[in-house]
Amino acid sequence: MDLQLLFDTYKEDLLYGRYVTNIHIEPLLKKYEEEFQVRIEGYSVLEKPIYSIIAGSGTTRIFIWSQMHGNESTTTKGLFDFISFLKSDEVLSQQLKEHFTFYIIPILNPDGAEAYTRVNANAIDLNRDSVNLSQPESRILRNCFDEFKPHYCYNMHDQRTIFGVGDEPKPATVSFLSPAYNDQRNINDCRQKAINLIAAMNDTLQQYIPGQVGRFDDSFNINCIGDMFQSLGVPTVLFEAGHYKGDYEREITRKLIFFALLSGFHAIYENVIVVNKTKDYFNIPQNKIVFYDILFKNVKINYENKEKFTNFASQYREVLFDNSVIFQAIISEIGNLDGIYGHAEIDCNREEFFGTDGSKIPKIDEKADFSIGKDRRFVNGQEVLKAFSI
Ligand SMILES: [Zn+2]
Repeated sequence: MDLQLLFDTYKEDLLYGRYVTNIHIEPLLKKYEEEFQVRIEGYSVLEKPIYSIIAGSGTTRIFIWSQMHGNESTTTKGLFDFISFLKSDEVLSQQLKEHFTFYIIPILNPDGAEAYTRVNANAIDLNRDSVNLSQPESRILRNCFDEFKPHYCYNMHDQRTIFGVGDEPKPATVSFLSPAYNDQRNINDCRQKAINLIAAMNDTLQQYIPGQVGRFDDSFNINCIGDMFQSLGVPTVLFEAGHYKGDYEREITRKLIFFALLSGFHAIYENVIVVNKTKDYFNIPQNKIVFYDILFKNVKINYENKEKFTNFASQYREVLFDNSVIFQAIISEIGNLDGIYGHAEIDCNREEFFGTDGSKIPKIDEKADFSIGKDRRFVNGQEVLKAFSI
């Protein structure tokens, strides 16, 4: 299976970048109406439709939802790449449609998607609402689950750039979790199935991003939807699409999500996931918070009239502007920052920091606009190259 070729062939070009809303997916849903079943499952707090696509006619039922957190759109892009593939005449596509029924909710939280927020329009985190079911979006998800009676659930999210994997930290480009179903974090048959499926997807991803797959923390919280569905006896896999170097639009990560989807379904189809993969699963390193977006090293500051050498870091704030997401570099931390890495690292060569207001120390929560020494100027955390002059 040439995953790269399949991705290049079937990638959904109409979706790009981080801002993905109902407006963006509606033309796609229209396109798939003839081939697959497209439904409105209900309405969000602000009465936006919550769509589903049902594809395939097989006996193994897969329930997938994305953008439960509105600003987590990478897996939605990967899902539409997958749906585009499903529509094709590829042999694997035909096999999957015969073997599986896919029930996909691409944007569970359309209000959050439009506002580019994690929460819904009532400022509720839908992934903490699985017991209360206080929100229409949570109730819709639960109704679909109860009616569809899936064999597997895919709970699809994005994770922030702060997560790394391993000792020489690489970004956690994709993380997985087979959620716990009890406080003891025991492994029953249900959780085991999700573990085996993750191990299969990890085997594939390691070929493309060696050492960049993480395992998410498995503390049990029944208010989280994955823990709830796992405790109701349905193997559930949490996907977390994360950072790949330089890929802030998450166009490479979307491809890896597509790879994970195809290889996981292929593994279920081939029935290879019956082998116990607990060891492989727990060998996936747990992701940990070790990254900032940009790390500035060896800078001279002046603090209370004393010169000192230190490091500081900036993190991008994602801001919705003119229908796209822009990345504002904000100074987030200053200090030794031992054990912390930057996706980009800049050596200040022990030269002096000058803020735009003349301050000689980076200020937390301010924009990363400053100079280093006499010659180097930074705007939005990026070095501004001087125009060539004679
Ligand atoms: Zn999330």
